[in-house]
Formats: sequence, structure tokens, C-alpha cells
Amino acid sequence: MTLIAAHTASSFLEKAPLARYVAPEKPSLIGLSRAALADALGSVGVPEGQRKMRVQQLWHWLYFRGATSFDTMTSIAKDLRAALAERFTLARPDVVAEQVSVDGTRKWLLRLPGDPESGLPHEVECVYIPDAERGTLCVSSQVGCTLNCSFCHTGTQRLVRNLNAGEIVGQVMAARDRLGDWPSGERCVTNIVMMGMGEPLYNFEAVRDALLIVADGDGIAISKRRITLSTSGVVPNIARTGAEIGCMLAVSLHAVRDEVRNELVPLNRKYPIRELLDACRNYPGVSNAKRITFEYVMLKGVNDSIEDAKALVRLLKGIPAKINLIPFNPWPGSRYECSDWEVIEKFSQIVFDAGYASPVRTPRGRDILAACGQLKSATEKLSARERMALRAMSMVE
Ligand code: SAH
Ligand code: SF4
Repeated sequence: MTLIAAHTASSFLEKAPLARYVAPEKPSLIGLSRAALADALGSVGVPEGQRKMRVQQLWHWLYFRGATSFDTMTSIAKDLRAALAERFTLARPDVVAEQVSVDGTRKWLLRLPGDPESGLPHEVECVYIPDAERGTLCVSSQVGCTLNCSFCHTGTQRLVRNLNAGEIVGQVMAARDRLGDWPSGERCVTNIVMMGMGEPLYNFEAVRDALLIVADGDGIAISKRRITLSTSGVVPNIARTGAEIGCMLAVSLHAVRDEVRNELVPLNRKYPIRELLDACRNYPGVSNAKRITFEYVMLKGVNDSIEDAKALVRLLKGIPAKINLIPFNPWPGSRYECSDWEVIEKFSQIVFDAGYASPVRTPRGRDILAACGQLKSATEKLSARERMALRAMSMVE
């Protein structure tokens, strides 16, 4: 579990026990497209001719004002509000824990309906990183991740499930609720990065639907240029990301040779570096004004030599790119070390001299395990054998 008692950080909410979680009886309207909202209105008797106008009103309350109750929707007739409240909710994922880092980074643990059979809930983490000129929300796309990148904590958690669009938009809503970010002029959340738990391109449709809601100009209205989706390289869905979402793309490259990348990002065996970079070259909308970010985690003695830096520059030739060097964030049990600072600086200089912006990502929220690759929730799909072992353990204790 990532909830740690760091004396430097503070936790505001006591984590509620992971007891049985009963899924809500009524569905939430959060995450529905305009067409699905029109259907929802139809189901409570709104005539077809009025639906478009009603959808517009609802959209405004949901995504511009951040309404958490139908009662506050004063521009909607009382009886319609009551009919909606009878069938639907405005629920977002429950925030069950909040940790604040010494650097102001906040991490929330969100609880979602889980396995209907066992009644156990699922949990994901979402991180807010405030900066002088922006506030970035790092959003999860899956509970855990099916991929097992060897340097990533999330990868050690077996996938339990994909999030649906409502649970992805719901993270943005829940964060804005906690930050008091509705609908003020000065925004806290100005940027979204799909860099939390999970591989967004293995949950393409839900991520797409959610991001289109987040970008919609009548609601949350975060421009697509301020939304970045990071992938470990699911090549067939890269073109779709450009065509159907149109957001900024980040690619977790991390190595310049297939032998090394196969070890770090095992998905490379399926989609090797050359295919991945071809997909980047052809990314719809890519230009010097809309560059692809290549993420490169700095691992001591693994991928951080001068030769690696030079090869990286050669490899990316012709692709409008930014290179983001990420100091490796350790987690309990990880087998790598972060490159030394002088090595990172030298690497960065070579990349910079070749004409690429090469910022080194300042690790944020390390004290609360909120930095890149440190997220991991307690949700695990236990095998029958593990369940038996757990039961046996609890009997002997
Ligand atoms: N699954 C997607 C998005 C989530 S990870 C992806 O892999 O791109 C977001 C970024 O954090 C990725 O670039 C990932 O490679 C990086 N990362 C993972 N573990 C890390 C760690 N321990 N230290 C630093 N960066 C890490
Ligand atoms: Fe999954 Fe990304 Fe972590 Fe790899 S780095 S295990 S793709 S979350």
C-alpha cells in the first residue's frame, strides 16, 4: 500500500477500511456523452424536441459549475430535477485518502465499485502537481496495469480492470471538488496528463470519451494542447489517438536499442523501436508547434551513457520532438538506481546541443510516493491459492 506515514507529509483523511463496498444503485451522469445524456433525459420523459436544449443546460451544471446535487440546478424545472434525481446521481469516485507532499503535490486515493462477487472495492490514485504557472493533474486509466515495465511500481500490480469514461472524468471532477476549483476564474487544474496508473491506449475508447468531455469548450474546457497522453508504445492505437482525440502525445521510449528496451518495456517485443518511431513520425497533427514528448527514465548504468544520448539524437532525427529526462523514482523492492546527477546533466547537454528541448523532470511528491511510476493501489486480484494463504495467515495470527 502506498499510504505511508512520512513525517514530512500530511494525510488529511483517515483511510476508511477496505470493507465491503456496495456499488451505488443508481448510475451517475458523469462521463456520459451528449448523445447518452439525451437518452437519459428521454428515459425520464423529456420529449425529443427539447432534449438538445436540456442537454446543454445539464452539461453546464455538470461540467462548468461542477454541481454535486440536482437541487442546485436552478435553470432546470423542479419536476425534471426530481425525476432525474430519482433515476441518476452526480457521483464521482469517492476520495478516501488525501496526502500532501512537502512540495505541495497532492495525492488522492479514489475508491470505485469493485468486484460484484466479492464486494471488494477497487482503488486508483490521482496526483495534483501545482507549479508557478500551471496546475497539472495526473490521471489514471486502469486499476493497475497489464504491462510489466521493470522499473515501474504500477506494473507490479496485476491489472484488475479498465476504468470507464465516468471514472476517468470523475478523477478530474473529484480533484476540482477537493481544490475548490469550480467555476472560478483562476483555475487550479490547467493541464491533464494521462500518466497515472495504467496504459491508456489499452483502454482506448473510455480514455477517448473522457478526454473529449474534459476538452469540451462548454464545460471543463481544458484545451487539447494542455492534455497529454503518455503511452508505452501501443503502436496500433497511436494514429487513432491523433485522429479521434487530438491531444498531445508522450511516448515512454527509455532506451535506444531493442535489447535494452525489451528488458525495460517488455511491450517492445511486440512493437519494436522502429515501428514505434514510424507511428510517431505519422502522428496526425505532429509539427514543430505540436511536438511529441519522448520520456526517458534515467537508470544508472542501464541507458545513461554518452553513446546512448548520441544514439537518441540520431534516432529521433526528423521527428518534431521534445525529450523529457525523468530521474528514476525508487520504490520498495525496485532493482534500479537513479543515474548520478552529473551523468543526467551530461546526457541532457548532448540532447540540448542537438537542438532538442531536454528538460529534466523535477521529481514531485516523492515523499508520498506520488512521483512518476510510484503509484500503486492495494487492489490486487488474488488467485485462489493466494486467498487460501491469506485465510490461513489470518487464522494463525
Ligand atoms: N503507461 C503509460 C503512462 C503511465 S507512466 C506509460 O508507460 O507511458 C508515466 C511515465 O512514468 C512513463 O513515462 C513511465 O515510463 C514513467 N515511469 C514509470 N515508472 C517510473 C519510475 N519508477 N521512475 C520514473 N519514471 C517512471
Ligand atoms: Fe504500465 Fe506505464 Fe508502468 Fe509500463 S510504465 S507498467 S505501461 S503504467
